Amino acid sequence: MSDIKNLSLFRDLPYINGKWVDCAKTVDVINPASDSVIGSVGCASVQQAKEAILCAEQAFYSWRETTAKNRSLILRRWYDLIMKNQKQLAKILTVEMGKPFDDAMGEIAYGASFIEWFSEEAKRVYGDVIPSYATNQRSLVIKQPVGVVGAITPWNFPNAMIARKIAPALAVGCSVVLKPAISTPYSALALAQLGEQAGIPAGVFNVITGDANKLGAELCSNPIVRKLTFTGSTSVGKTLIKQCADTVKKVSMELGGNAPSIVFEDADVDHAVQEIMISKFRNSGQTCVCTNRIYVHESILDEFVSKFSDAVKGLKIGNGMEKGTQQGPLINKKAMKDVHKIVKDAVKQGASLVLGGKSHSLGHSFYEPTILCDLKQDMDIAKQEIFGPVAPIFSFSDEQDVINKANDTEYGLASYFYSRDIGKIWRVSEKLDYGMVSVNSGILSSETIPFGGVKQSGTGREGSKYGTDDYTVIKHINMSGI
Ligand code: ADP
Repeated sequence: MSDIKNLSLFRDLPYINGKWVDCAKTVDVINPASDSVIGSVGCASVQQAKEAILCAEQAFYSWRETTAKNRSLILRRWYDLIMKNQKQLAKILTVEMGKPFDDAMGEIAYGASFIEWFSEEAKRVYGDVIPSYATNQRSLVIKQPVGVVGAITPWNFPNAMIARKIAPALAVGCSVVLKPAISTPYSALALAQLGEQAGIPAGVFNVITGDANKLGAELCSNPIVRKLTFTGSTSVGKTLIKQCADTVKKVSMELGGNAPSIVFEDADVDHAVQEIMISKFRNSGQTCVCTNRIYVHESILDEFVSKFSDAVKGLKIGNGMEKGTQQGPLINKKAMKDVHKIVKDAVKQGASLVLGGKSHSLGHSFYEPTILCDLKQDMDIAKQEIFGPVAPIFSFSDEQDVINKANDTEYGLASYFYSRDIGKIWRVSEKLDYGMVSVNSGILSSETIPFGGVKQSGTGREGSKYGTDDYTVIKHINMSGI
């Protein structure tokens, strides 16, 4: 059930300039649901990373000369191949990352939707003609690919976080060197294999698996790389921004979050429960847009806690490959221990445990879905990104006060609230200091919308008509003597 080594899309070596390259070292990849070794993957050396960057530079010169339609057709073929192989890709994803197979199927379709979207956007990277400042002069603006892109992606969406970056980059004519998370390399390598079948030329899309610090430092410091795009924690993001400073790279950063979900007194409580279940427990709470703090109006607190607890008790925990599983393990034991520490500290600081609060009897990296109540804004848990299946519930009584509390964080990625009062919906939407606000829904992401944060949640936007901006530079052409 968990063997993926025989699958045709299984590859375990870095992919550089259209070739699977041997490595002096390998590292084991672990299935978090069983702690068993799935296989080992080659670790690219820094020298191999340099070669990948050089090859990407060579490939860039010809790729950028291709027509938008040509790049569009290749991306469209890639999309078709991914959807044709959806089940195989989902199986690889579940086995290396742990999320339920149905969720993995959803992630493959979600990731592919960005490739489809940017295959369409490739043809719409328009420039401008600016009204002239002198009679014999004209000003044009064209958008051009920024150059070789370095991409560093996390393990929580081993497929989609890659697709969201590579698709716009390739669409506008950039080439890419990708470093996926070492705990989930197989999804990335499978994508590269399908990219080759779709006709992506050698060197345009390279994948280097291996040591994050060394390969990341090379991507950030190498002057050939003109842009770095990263999804991951805020602390690593800050390190990468510093490393990119010496070569003044364009950067986009999709970093951590501390999403509030506010349930106002006029909300449909059943609906709010259903949506917060999704935004809290999806991916076992391991997404940057997961609800991190739940604020419930004091007049509906008891009703909410009771209905929410019932829903949480119904979650089916298990190996993601087992039918009906709704919540898999955390990515590894360390992640499970980190989550447990957050819960223990909150209880020490006065929180009451309503449900869960310990590692799950399934063992390995599984953690019980947990609910905490009686929380105060000055507790550590209000400031931390939990990244696990833990739901802290705060109560509030005043609209402006809850907005202040929701904004009381260094992060600013996703936020959610529930209300049926149109005036309040406008007021609160405008006052939340977040890149994304979702009203009456626990899901806000699709390829059609600009995904990204403010404050220490990052810069740049992925998806939507804005999504190509991160991979282009603006050139002004001044024409005189007319
Ligand atoms: P998470 O907490 O979600 O694992 P990280 O920010 O630690 O997030 O990891 C996200 C990605 O960043 C992974 O691909 C990881 O290998 C990579 N990474 C972690 N540390 C560094 C680093 N110092 N330099 C470059 N990449 C790094």
